[in-house]
Parts: sequence; structure tokens; C-alpha cells
Amino acid sequence: MTSPQPDTDLIGKIRDIAGSGGVLTEAADVAPFYRDHRELFVGAGLCVARPRTTEEVAAIVRLCAERRVPVVPQGGNTGLVGGSVPDDTGNAVVISLARMNRIRELDAVNATMTVEAGCILQDLQDAARDADRLFPLSLGAEGSCMIGGNLSTNAGGIGVLKYGNARDLVLGLEVVLADGRVWNGLNGLRKDNTGYDLKHLFIGAEGTLGIITAAVMKLYPRPAAQETVFMAVPRIEDVMGLLNDARAASGDCVTAFELLPRLGLDLVLKHFEGTRAPLETVTPWYVLMQWSAGAGAGDAEAALRRALESFLEGRFEAGVITDAALAASEAQVKELWKLREVLPESQTREGGSIKHDVSVPVSRVSEFINRGTALLESHMPGIRVFPFGHVGDGNIHFNVTQPVGMTKAEFHGHWEEINRLTHDLVMEMDGSFSAEHGIGRLKRGELARYGDPLDLELMRRIKSVLDPDGIMNPGKVL
Ligand SMILES: Cc1cc2nc3c(=O)[nH]c(=O)nc-3n(C[C@H](O)[C@H](O)[C@H](O)COP(=O)(O)OP(=O)(O)OC[C@H]3O[C@@H](n4cnc5c(N)ncnc54)[C@H](O)[C@@H]3O)c2cc1C
Repeated sequence: MTSPQPDTDLIGKIRDIAGSGGVLTEAADVAPFYRDHRELFVGAGLCVARPRTTEEVAAIVRLCAERRVPVVPQGGNTGLVGGSVPDDTGNAVVISLARMNRIRELDAVNATMTVEAGCILQDLQDAARDADRLFPLSLGAEGSCMIGGNLSTNAGGIGVLKYGNARDLVLGLEVVLADGRVWNGLNGLRKDNTGYDLKHLFIGAEGTLGIITAAVMKLYPRPAAQETVFMAVPRIEDVMGLLNDARAASGDCVTAFELLPRLGLDLVLKHFEGTRAPLETVTPWYVLMQWSAGAGAGDAEAALRRALESFLEGRFEAGVITDAALAASEAQVKELWKLREVLPESQTREGGSIKHDVSVPVSRVSEFINRGTALLESHMPGIRVFPFGHVGDGNIHFNVTQPVGMTKAEFHGHWEEINRLTHDLVMEMDGSFSAEHGIGRLKRGELARYGDPLDLELMRRIKSVLDPDGIMNPGKVL
């Protein structure tokens, strides 16, 4: 593609565009931009460009396009598949969107906000709250991931059950194309059937088709009441039925439904000081559930609580749940969510872990967990299977931890075969080997292996139309 020699002329020109603080070249400054969150990939680059405006992004991409220099868009660099960092050839320009962090407009009546790609997700939630609105996208990395990254990975998280993935929350986009032109699809229309809906090409494209610079995001009314409960559910086969019953009993008010295995809870209690088990009851499975209600007549909070208590009583009598802790204060809500949020990190602290972010039809979640667990336990006696996550969406983080006594290195030596067993089962069950984290570099081989040939052909053709010289985040996805 291009010469791997440091191109000081190009760096100087980028500095002319983005200002002296707009380019990083020193090893210590660029290092965090060249390694991914899980440190599975450490690359190299020509420099890190930090533009402040769409025009600056466009000018930098135009320069790179003229010289066929690859560009790697980066947001908060919290992605889990290695999509946001360059390879090790050293010839790419990383374009960090971090300085494009303005909320251009918040229209409370249209229920939208127009935001730049570098806005941190949590800041957008806060801005919506300040305007008495809800921005429902929520995930563990929300304190550092950015909306451009969320859109480029079509992020999921805990609110998908009610509000959908990132894709479902967008009305319009502004994108810098691979030749440096700006595609302006930045409208806030809820109805617009004027030909192909091009914005959806860029959502979930992981920076391989263009750079998202701004978006119009949907806002929602803030719920008048919210209840959070932690339940002991002895049988995995009862979990999805519990969700369906909860949706019916609440008038479809279930806004989160997260599965936690006992093993996960044990590791959280072991590795995180100050955490405590919410229930004394020891059972293989727990569910953390949240109900949110609109304004309703009378005291919405009391009404929601009564409905939830009566639902829990019924499930208790049916033997589906054996214990439950209802959060009585905001502090208790936070305590319960903390158990869920630190679950992946507790696994990392325990030692070697191999992670699968998979989905199956919601009706087959328990079948998948049972079959997958039996498969891996028979393959490697002592392996600790650790399924958790957003099961309300059919999304299971089917992670496994090393057997006690095995070294991390030895365990990681089995990475490929454990992936293969798990993903083969997922595909046999009409599922997806990447539910919400994307493809990046980590799962490119899996896409090539499991992807439908016609899907792959169409993706390649779209790529060649939008990025004929292959400069947009090369080596990712396809
Ligand atoms: C603790 C933790 C919890 C997480 N929980 C979840 C979860 O529940 N659900 C979920 O879906 N993910 C989750 N993730 C993964 C990650 O946070 C998301 O994928 C997030 O959306 C990435 O945003 P980012 O700004 O960090 O993007 P980055 O990591 O910087 O980039 C991700 C990809 O998008 C591209 N990109 C970034 N910005 C742009 C842009 N402006 N234009 C074009 N391309 C761009 C990059 O090139 C890369 O391919 C979690 C990660 C962590 C560390």
C-alpha cells in the first residue's frame, strides 16, 4: 500500500490542519492509542491525529487518501475485538475523535440530541437527564467509550431489551467518506423514506466505510419509577419463562434482565473488596431485573412496587424463584449493579479466561447454556464455565475460566479449540458468534469461516464502492 517510512511531510500537513495539539508522535503519547483495551493487539502508526471539527477530519482523510495512507478511526478505545488500533506496519494514521465532543443541539420537543462522535456516552446520558429526558444506551464502558465508537460497533448493553441496540437509537448521521467528502445525513426525521437508508451502512461498520463525525440520537421520557430486584433462580430452564412472565405482568416494563451464575458471584466476592452477596440463598443462577414505569395515574412508584411484589410472590409460589432482594434505596441499586458490572473483571483477576460474546434465539438460551457447558466440561475436565449477561436479548457472554491448578499460558493454548467448539454449537443453533462486540481483527477469521458467501460478497462490493483504495481501517472485519 504505502511506504512504511515516517512521512514527516504528511505529519506536518496534518499539524497545519489540526493545530500543534492536534498531532501526537512521541512514543509515550501514542502508546495508549496503539494498544487495544484487552492488550491482545499492540500495533504501530505514523501518528495520532486529533481533529476538532468535521472539516478537519475531512481534510486529514483527504490528505491520507491522496497518498493511500491507511486511517484508523478511534473513539474511547474500549472495543473488545481489536478494531480500534493499527496493525504493526507503522504506516497508518490513527484519527482520534476525542476532541470532537460537543453536543451541537438538544431538541427536547423533537426528543433528539445532535452530538459529535467524541462525546463520552455517560456525558450524553447526563445531558439528557439534565433536560429531563432519557438517553437509554448503557454499558459497562460508558465512562470512557464514545458515541462514534458505540455507533460504529452498533453497541448493545443493558437497555437493548426495551430500547434496542445503538442502531435503533439513531435518526441521522454525518460521515467523512474515504475520499474526504462529507456525507450529510444529519437529520432528525422520524419518517423519511427517500431511497436507501444509507446511515445504516456506517452503523456497525467498525470504521471500515467512513468516519462518523456526528449523529442525531433519540431521547425518551424519563421513567417516573424504577425497581431493581436480585432473584435466586435454581433452574436455568426457568429463566426465560421468568422474563416472559415479567414482561406480561409489568405491562412490558422490563428494562433490564441480566443473568449471573453462582460461580461469577463467588469470584466477584473473592476479588472485589466491599462486595457482598445480596441473598443468603445459594443457587446456581441469579437474575438481576429492572422494571421502569412511565408516569401513570397516582403514585407510580408505589404502584410499580406493588406490581413487582405481587409478581415475585407468584413466581415464588410456582417454585421458579427461591429468594429475592428488592433494592430499597439508590445505594442498594448501585450495589446490585456493581456485582454485574465487575463480573468480567473478576474473571480476569481469577486467571486465564477465554470469552465468547454469542447469541441464540431467546427461546434457546437455556438449551445453549446446558449443551455448551456439557460440551466444554467433557472436553476439558475442571474448566469453569461462566455464562452471564444480557440473556433477555438472547446474548450470552459464554466465558470460561481456567481449571484450578492449570497455568494461564497452558489454558490460553486451548483458545482456538475452545472457540471452535463453542462457535460451532452457536452456529448449529442458528445463533451469532458475535452478538454485540463486532468483528474487528479478533473475529475476522470467524466471519470468513461462518459468514454466508453471498453476505461476504455483498459486503466486499459495498466496501469497494465506498473505499476503493482500501484505506479505511484496513484488516478489520473483512
Ligand atoms: C468494561 C466493558 C464493558 C463493555 N460492555 C459492552 C456491552 O455491554 N455491550 C457492547 O456492545 N459493548 C460493550 N463493550 C465494548 C465497547 O465498549 C463497545 O464496543 C463500545 O461501543 C466501543 O466504543 P469506543 O468509543 O471505545 O470505540 P473504539 O474502541 O475506539 O472503536 C471501536 C470500533 O469503532 C471504530 N470507530 C470508533 N469511532 C469511530 C468513528 N467515529 N467513526 C468510525 N469508526 C469508529 C474503531 O475503528 C473500531 O473499529 C464493553 C467494553 C468494556 C471495556
